[in-house]
Amino acid sequence: MNGAKSKKKKSGEASDKVAHERHDFLQSTVQRLRDRAGNVCSFPDCHVHTHGSAFTGDKAVGVGVACHIKAAAPGGPRYDPEQTKDERRHLDNGIWMCQTHSKLVDADDSAFSVEALRVWKQKAEERSNGLINQKSFTESEVKAAVEEGSVSVLQRWVNRSDDPFDTPIAEMMKGYETGLEKLDSRFNVQVDRVGGQCHHIISAAQDNVSLQLILRDLDQLEGFWEAERAFFEEGRELQIPGAHFKIEGSKLFDAIHQRTNQSGRGVVTMGAPKRALTANLYVRTSDGEWAIDTFTCHYTSGSLRTVFSGTALGGFFGIKASFAHDGLNTKFDLTFNLDAWRDQNILELPGFSRLARAARYFGKGRLVVEIEVGNNVASFDTKSSPINEEYHAQLRWMIEYLDFARKVAEQCSEPVILKTFDFDNEVYSALRKYARLLAGTVATTRKAGWLCSGEFTYHEGYDLSSIDSSGVPQVIRLAQRDSMTFDLFGQVVTAPRVETIYTEVEFTLHSDLDARDKPKINLYTTEKTTITTLLRDEDSWIVLRDTSILDEPLPLSS
Ligand SMILES: [Zn+2]
Repeated sequence: MNGAKSKKKKSGEASDKVAHERHDFLQSTVQRLRDRAGNVCSFPDCHVHTHGSAFTGDKAVGVGVACHIKAAAPGGPRYDPEQTKDERRHLDNGIWMCQTHSKLVDADDSAFSVEALRVWKQKAEERSNGLINQKSFTESEVKAAVEEGSVSVLQRWVNRSDDPFDTPIAEMMKGYETGLEKLDSRFNVQVDRVGGQCHHIISAAQDNVSLQLILRDLDQLEGFWEAERAFFEEGRELQIPGAHFKIEGSKLFDAIHQRTNQSGRGVVTMGAPKRALTANLYVRTSDGEWAIDTFTCHYTSGSLRTVFSGTALGGFFGIKASFAHDGLNTKFDLTFNLDAWRDQNILELPGFSRLARAARYFGKGRLVVEIEVGNNVASFDTKSSPINEEYHAQLRWMIEYLDFARKVAEQCSEPVILKTFDFDNEVYSALRKYARLLAGTVATTRKAGWLCSGEFTYHEGYDLSSIDSSGVPQVIRLAQRDSMTFDLFGQVVTAPRVETIYTEVEFTLHSDLDARDKPKINLYTTEKTTITTLLRDEDSWIVLRDTSILDEPLPLSS
């Protein structure tokens, strides 16, 4: 027995090639194998780390094994009787494996060849060499890093990029939304970016979704209780800052809450879903209806009331209406706001022509808003509101003012922009007169009698000799000496001069004894006199941006 396990002889005798003890690696060789493999299993694509700290205490634990490429003892896998003991224990005959793969490699019937193991070893050592001085991550660490990375990239785009088209934000958003929805499939998530802020719009994806909303320190929130009542009764939006709420019972809300709490700017907004409806604004009289605008109206509904709000004519009219579900209380408020039209060209006001046409019926009618709710129509009428006749009269006067001004603006080569909203009674009268004259000459009559008198000057092609020679002139023209200049919504407008033509007039001429060269004239109209007023063709409408040149408006001619 002893002989069989004796030291081998250099001669390579047959007896030396049979049974011998295991030729295990020296401890120093094991350590070298481990180090050269980078303390990582050499099995293809295994890559597990083989040593680390024990959970408790100060020990280290290892799952690494130095395996023989050619077996350490006869009967082992890939045993080579030709090897010497030193060759069997040599670094070249070892490969570093994790425990799992060492069993596959060391099994007596292992199918892996010497060549295969040598290739693995070489690749593992190349890889470990490449990893020297590199960071090490586990798979889960890498996944977390990728997620974190994509979120930070998303936040950068969401918060800083002004141009959504220069980033793949749509795809990122979609992925982000989908990721959030996966946290809690009971909810749909839509992410909107508004003015550098990120809005998570969350709606229930199924019926009977329950969550716990924990609120605190609400007394510190100004106006909270009124807002809460409006939320329950009318479905109006209720906002609660991050410091005052916590939502429990959903990973989705946990994740969002965690993020918003980090930035300290999170606000939860609760509210019934806002739904869009089509609404119509018109004037109703006993003779008929005059449409003004069709617009979109939104409504929310709560336990007591349904509330509508919307704007018509590009924001000029603001509509707020509500009705109580018990049918007892209907409210309607229709406001107008010229600021909606500020800086617009007076000729390009949305829907103005229809408004001006309808305004003619304000005196005998009422403004009505009808909202199409399914197959029904909710009708709101200024009769059921505090809006009174004074409101209609004021609105009508303003619309007329604008309407006359538009007729003037049509004549101007420069646009008239609504820069200021100074309404002036004198300008109103002038605009009304110009609007009439622009529609055509105006013919009027008057009682026969004295018309005017004044110093006679040589004017308009007439002189004393022509009057003398032709007897009584058929026609007298009276023209403004100066054009009228006035402020029209923040710009200066100069109008053409107004001319009045009187036919069949009579006159008398006389002169003072001491001023014979300055005859005076008295004009009288007769029963046959016609009076025609018109704008002088040769004058044009002028718009000046600079209002500083404006003095007192000149009076119109009589
Ligand atoms: Zn392994």
